[in-house]
Formats: sequence, structure tokens, C-alpha cells
Amino acid sequence: PADSETLGRSTWTLLHSIAATYPRQPTSTQQTDLTSFIKLFSKFYPCWVCAEDFQAYIEREKVKAGSRDEFGNWLCEAHNEVNRKLGKPEFDCKRWEERWRTGWKD
Ligand code: FAD
Repeated sequence: PADSETLGRSTWTLLHSIAATYPRQPTSTQQTDLTSFIKLFSKFYPCWVCAEDFQAYIEREKVKAGSRDEFGNWLCEAHNEVNRKLGKPEFDCKRWEERWRTGWKD
């Protein structure tokens, strides 16, 4: 399997890209599907200690899938929780869309 850093970077890229293309006004089916996807993803993420912590996080902080903005921010906060755990700098969640959808201005 891929090492946990390569796996992590690739996975965050996928997840934040899903947030960036998620509808601004999702249907109720899209909302329940995205919530299910995140929960199921957390059961199969192939770094078992990571997966356990992420599942516990989802129990505490329910997935917010009401809009692109809501999900993008929820995911950014979830990623920041992992950043804190690993001693990495926190990301300013006001900038998640700039990073993952519209591109940096500088
Ligand atoms: P990454 O954290 O992979 O981030 C990639 C890029 O995303 C960054 O360069 C930055 O531009 C951007 N970014 C950073 N923070 C945010 C944010 N909050 N919101 C939006 N964009 C952001 N590793 C472990 O060792 N232990 C764990 O328990 C663990 N749990 C994980 C759980 C999940 C669900 C995932 C997907 C990964 C987990 N990882 C874990 C891997 C870890 O989070 C990193 O991916 C890995 O350490 C590589 O880090 P990196 O510095 O390359 O940047």
C-alpha cells in the first residue's frame, strides 16, 4: 500500500475536490448520499488508526452536507483536526475554496 503521507495527500485532494464541485443547492438525495459516502469512506480508509480517529470525529461533529459552503467548511475543520494531531499548521478555512476551487490569487 501507499505510505500514509502519499495516501493522505491524495485523499485530501479527492475529498476537497468533491467539496469544490458539490452543488451550492444540493437535493436531499445528494445530501444523504454525501453523508453516507463520508461515513462509508471512513470505514474503509486504508490507514486503520487514521480511520478510527476519523470515525470518532464524525460521531462528534456530524457531517454537514447542506451546501458546498457548508461541506467545504466541515471538511476543512476535519482536516484541521488531523493537522493539529500531527503538529501541522492549521489552515484558514476562509480560504478553502480559493485553495481547492478557484485557485490562489498570488
Ligand atoms: P496534507 O495534510 O495532506 O494536505 C494537503 C494540502 O491540503 C496542503 O498542502 C494544503 O494546501 C491543504 N490543506 C491543509 N490543511 C487543509 C484544510 N484544513 N482544509 C483544506 N485544505 C487544507 N496521517 C497520520 O499520520 N495520522 C493520522 O491519524 C491521519 N489521519 C488522516 C485522516 C484522513 C481522513 C486523511 C485523509 C488523512 C490522514 N492522515 C493521517 C494523513 C495526513 O492528514 C496528511 O495527508 C499527510 O501527513 C501528508 O501531509 P501534507 O503535509 O502533505 O499535507
